Amino acid sequence: MIVMKKVVVVGAGAGGGLVTSKLRAKTSREEVEITVIDSTGRTDFQPSYPMVSIGLKRPSEIGVSFDNFSKTGIKPVKAKVTSINADERIVKTDTGDIPYDELILSPGAKIENEKLPNSESIGHFWDMEHSLDLRKKLINLKEGKIVIGVTSMIYKCPPVPWEMGMLLDNMYRNLGIRNRIEIKVVHWAPKPMSMFGPVISDPVTKWMEESNIEGNYGFEFSSIDPEKKKIISKKGDEENYDLAILAPPHSVPDFVKNSENLLSQRGWLDANANTFRPKKYDDIYGLGDAIAPTLGLGMAGVFAHFQADTVASLVLNDLDGIYPPFAYNKVGLCASDMGSTGWISYCDFSGKIKDNSVPFPDCGVLGSGPLFKLAHSIYEKYFLGAVYGGWIR
Ligand SMILES: Cc1cc2nc3c(=O)[nH]c(=O)nc-3n(C[C@H](O)[C@H](O)[C@H](O)COP(=O)(O)OP(=O)(O)OC[C@H]3O[C@@H](n4cnc5c(N)ncnc54)[C@H](O)[C@@H]3O)c2cc1C
Repeated sequence: MIVMKKVVVVGAGAGGGLVTSKLRAKTSREEVEITVIDSTGRTDFQPSYPMVSIGLKRPSEIGVSFDNFSKTGIKPVKAKVTSINADERIVKTDTGDIPYDELILSPGAKIENEKLPNSESIGHFWDMEHSLDLRKKLINLKEGKIVIGVTSMIYKCPPVPWEMGMLLDNMYRNLGIRNRIEIKVVHWAPKPMSMFGPVISDPVTKWMEESNIEGNYGFEFSSIDPEKKKIISKKGDEENYDLAILAPPHSVPDFVKNSENLLSQRGWLDANANTFRPKKYDDIYGLGDAIAPTLGLGMAGVFAHFQADTVASLVLNDLDGIYPPFAYNKVGLCASDMGSTGWISYCDFSGKIKDNSVPFPDCGVLGSGPLFKLAHSIYEKYFLGAVYGGWIR
């Protein structure tokens, strides 16, 4: 008699969505039950949030309801995970308990919106709701100074403040009012994208100059004064704004924070870079943004994408022992659409994962120019199709 195995995936985003569909493609519905739990009940292609803010994309173009999972024999459960009872193999949610044989955690990072003041002159694009709100603020701004910054070292998509600078430059040029809008990136990095080394930083610095996007670098955010419209650095420097676009603090989701056995020394989801398991369990796997700080990586969907290949192979191996584990490809690929132009760059993080004191990953640029804008849209369609069992919706 076949004993049905239960695989439970927490999070239907980049990591959870991809690992779920990979597992479904390689397992029979009679032998393996796959449940995916997500509190929002949808999967968004988050790299397109900036496009929503500048009015180029609508939410329906960049996201899908996760009810679509049921078409491919996956059980979607819209619920919030509140804790994990790893000893009894139970996921506890606000709508009930869900037992598992294998558990995959890809809950991403929690965006701490409440840590930023609610103000007409502050916004961001790190979730759908705020991307839509920012769209109104950007279109209403007819003149003044936009500051794009981050409130902490860790935030989703390290290159995105500069990409947004370029998108806004393009948007206000198209509106014919660029000469009335000042755009400035305010960031802890010493130079534009310098965390990726000069191969990346040098061309981006040139683009910033050519597009008249100013910078205040080495600026570590400390606080914001919404009355005086100023952000203040840890050293006490001030930067004034008319509209501040700020990445809110990111933190580990609460159910992970409250499970000591799932936490790494860095305070994020524990995972080993080869096994993707936390030290204490052999039936739990983690991937995506929740493990990025543990591995010393930035938060990017491309990491979750390659981790999903490895985690799926490890779980398949646990289930029937015939799939050899797939080695983790530690490369990050960035396909940017920056309005009038685009580029594809890559970085190999193998050296950095082995030794975090290595100053930057090994990066290169595959190409840049208007044609390379296409890569962003192609990946968006691939991603939403791949998650829901086909190439293109
Ligand atoms: C503006 C922006 C631009 C970006 N650009 C790029 C880019 O160009 N390239 C790139 O590679 N990456 C980019 N990223 C980053 C990328 O989107 C993330 O790294 C990726 O989505 C992480 O995947 P994940 O599965 O770890 O988390 P997510 O995709 O965030 O998914 C986590 C899911 O878990 C769910 N969840 C969380 N907690 C619970 C709970 N307690 N109970 C139930 N469900 C829960 C959430 O609802 C969410 O759906 C960008 C992100 C943003 C915001």
